[in-house]
This record gives sequence, C-alpha cells and structure tokens, in this order.
Amino acid sequence: MISRIDLRGDALPEGGALRDLLPRAEFDVEAALEKVRPICEDVRHHGAVAVIDYGEKFDGVRVADLRVPAETITRALDELDPAVRAALEESIRRARIVHREQRRTTHTTQVVPGGTVTEKWVPVERVGLYVPGGRSVYPSSVVMNVVPAQEAGVEGVAIASPPQKEFGGLPHPTILAACALLGVDEVYAAGGAQAIAMFAYGTEDTEDAPGCAPVNLVTGPGNIYVAAAKRLLKGRIGIDAEAGPTEIAILADSTADPVHVAADLISQAEHDPMAAAVLVTDSEELARATEAELKTQVAATKHIEDRIVPALAGKQSAIVLVSDLEDGLKVVDAYGAEHLEIQTADAAARADRVRNAGAIFVGPWAPVSLGDYCAGSNHVLPTGGCACHSSGLSVQSFLRGIHIVDYTRDALAEVTHHVVTLAEAEDLPAHGAALKARFGWKVPQA
Ligand code: NAD
Repeated sequence: MISRIDLRGDALPEGGALRDLLPRAEFDVEAALEKVRPICEDVRHHGAVAVIDYGEKFDGVRVADLRVPAETITRALDELDPAVRAALEESIRRARIVHREQRRTTHTTQVVPGGTVTEKWVPVERVGLYVPGGRSVYPSSVVMNVVPAQEAGVEGVAIASPPQKEFGGLPHPTILAACALLGVDEVYAAGGAQAIAMFAYGTEDTEDAPGCAPVNLVTGPGNIYVAAAKRLLKGRIGIDAEAGPTEIAILADSTADPVHVAADLISQAEHDPMAAAVLVTDSEELARATEAELKTQVAATKHIEDRIVPALAGKQSAIVLVSDLEDGLKVVDAYGAEHLEIQTADAAARADRVRNAGAIFVGPWAPVSLGDYCAGSNHVLPTGGCACHSSGLSVQSFLRGIHIVDYTRDALAEVTHHVVTLAEAEDLPAHGAALKARFGWKVPQA
C-alpha cells in the first residue's frame, strides 16, 4: 500500500540531490497552471457568468447568484447542531488566544539624534478568504482564515466556498454557520480557480445581487487548482503561501507507537488522493509494524478507495528508512513538510533543531488532527516544499509594515556627504542633488 525508500548505508547527499530522492507528487502546481489559465481569463472577461458556468461544470450545480443572502447565513447558524457549534466556538476561542498575541505594535527607532524610523503596521483593506469544499467541507478553514484577518484589523472580509449540489448550490451549511459565528456576511458560492479569479478581478452587480468587489489579498487552502490560480494571479493580488494538497511527515524512532503513526498518516491521506504521507524512521521494526497497522486501519475507515489508498500508494507517499535520527533530521529538513510530527524519545529537543516545516507537532500527544481543529495554531500551512521559504497563515499575513522616516535639518546635514557619495557611486547624481539643493547646493561637512 505504501512504498519504501531505503536511504541507509551510504552518506546522504546534500540539498537538492537529497530532495530528489524523496517522495513528491507527480502532478504539481506548474502542471495545473495551464489548466487554470483559461478559467481565470474567462472570469476576467465575462465576470460572474463565467464563475457560475465553471461552478456548473466542476461542482455539478448552476447557481442563480453567487452571493449568499445574509438571512441564509444567519439561518445556517440557527439550524446548526449544538455540539458542532460548541466545537467551532472552542476552535475559535483557542485560535483567538494564539493569534491575538501575534498583533504587531508600532515601533519607533531613533537612528541618530533628530532622525527616526517608525514602523507602522497597517491591515490590508479587503481580503478574499478561500474555504475548500470539493471532496470535504472545511468549516475549520473559515476559522483559520477569518480569525487572523480579524485580529489583524482587516475591515473587508469576503469568503468563497464551492457550491454544493445537495444544498441547492449554496456553500455547505456548516461553512455558512461558521461565517455567522465569526460575523462574516459576505459569502460567495464559488470554488476552485474561478473563485480566486473572481476575487482578483471582481464581478459586476446584477439586478438581483451585488457583485464581488476586487480584493487586495487572497488567502486560504485548497486543491492543486486553487494553488495554481493563486500562483497565476499573484501580483494582481497578494497571496499567502501556497497551501495545496496536505502533507504529513513523521520522524519517528523505535519508541513511537505504530498505531498512532499509522492513524496520523491516514488522517492526512483522508483529505485528497494527492495528499502526501511520509514516515521517516531509523527503525525497521517500526516501519514493518506501521505497514501492518496501515492495512488494518485503512480497511476500517471511510474514504478508502477515492482518497486514502491512492494517497498512500501514490509517488508522494513513502516510508523512508534512514541510518539514524541525525539523517532523519536531514531528510525532514530537505522535505520541508507542511505538517511534521516528531515521535522520538527526545521529541522536543529534535523539534528544536528542525529548520523547514509548516508546523511541528511534538511527541505522542500532539497529533496533526489537533492542529487541524483545536490546538490554537493555524492550519493554513505551506505545502509542496514551500515551508523552506514561507510560513503558515498568521496575523502578519494580513499586515503591511510601513516605514515612516522623520529627520531634522541637522540630522540630514550630518549624513548628506554619505548620501551624495553613494549616489555618485551609482551614477545617479540627481539623487545627491536632491540633498544638496536643501543646503544651498553645498555638501555640509560632517
Ligand atoms: P477545493 O475547494 O480546494 O477544490 C474544489 C474546486 O476545485 C471545485 O470547486 C472546482 O472548481 C475545482 N476543480 C475540481 N476539478 C477541477 C478540474 N479538473 N479542473 C479545474 N478545476 C477543478 O476542495 P478539495 O478538492 O476538497 O480540496 C481541498 C484541498 O485543501 C485538499 O487537497 C486538502 O488537502 C487541502 N487543504 C490544505 C490545507 C493547508 O493548509 N495546506 C488545509 C486544509 C485543506
């Protein structure tokens, strides 16, 4: 069901050569770009009609309007199962505790007497938050997108989630209820690349419903088409890191419980046939026991044939055997997993040494599923190796730092000769002239 990659024996190669030995999906975001390009162009030229057409094509339902009426959102909360409401409220409460502490404060640095630089943090004005809803529906992603945006102080929050056939073309009612709980009333029944393009280009008002005004920033997880559309439209809109098909890597030694290891691998394979599940271990015994557990546990779960088996059997998943845990650390760093669990005897110390991961889950009592819903951490995390250069969603994702430069005459005079020298070294004399003009065209002496 899951293949093995044996890296024991020879010394591990470095960098890219090591990455090439590790499992990765065959169908990547680059390949999906060509599929989403015409979709985004259509939405650009034909607006809401194109979004509705693609919803019919990919989601199997044609909606009359993209915008979900406010009373439908409120009703979804009234009709929500009380246990789900309580769980969502707890998820929101914990996420707020963590994200509130990420707020940035304005800070002024005195560079020289009379010369200051202040960094002021300003929230993005209007954001489009994507909430997946193809194979599964993710009310948890409403929480993970909206809470940091609100804690950052964003005023314009719009949400898009695919139309669901069994709910008459509305996004799933639990998603609508989560929006109501968080006080978001601008919701669109739009999914995939067409939703990202709708956010980027905006759509016109119609007689029956207001259009979607373009946004400044799009965040949120999604499948490969969502990730590709974000990459394509980056620049016109800001984006968070690409958060595509989910990945779990587990670094484990012989002290790990194979029942937990297998359960955690399956928990992420359940998302998508393109999801990746990777175990990195120095223990042949754990590898064997995990393989046996996978067979037993997969047979007893849901979504077996459509997601879990293809995800585990795909090229993106494997058990990687290493000589020792030092090599294991090199492997997980080269892989840069979205989610990394450390299930070793000295888990906290090893976690401390990891450099590349979206989020790290330490020891036996912090499974990825906890982070998916209720740890307080964010579950919108970089995939496909993007953890090597990007972070998951946070308050920071919704803020811009603006420098405010304030110098007195004396402070400017004191540094003018350096500015003029550098301007001349770059053959940009007008830069120097802008300072000299302030001092009667003479360079003040230091
Ligand atoms: P989704 O909402 O991301 O995608 C559904 C949309 O995909 C549809 O509305 C449709 O428009 C589009 N689509 C489907 N087939 C297409 C095709 N052939 N061509 C063009 N567009 C097509 O929902 P999903 O499919 O369930 O995927 C959710 C993904 O989000 C999973 O891969 C899951 O692992 C991932 N996820 C990632 C994170 C993270 O932080 N990285 C968090 C949660 C979920």
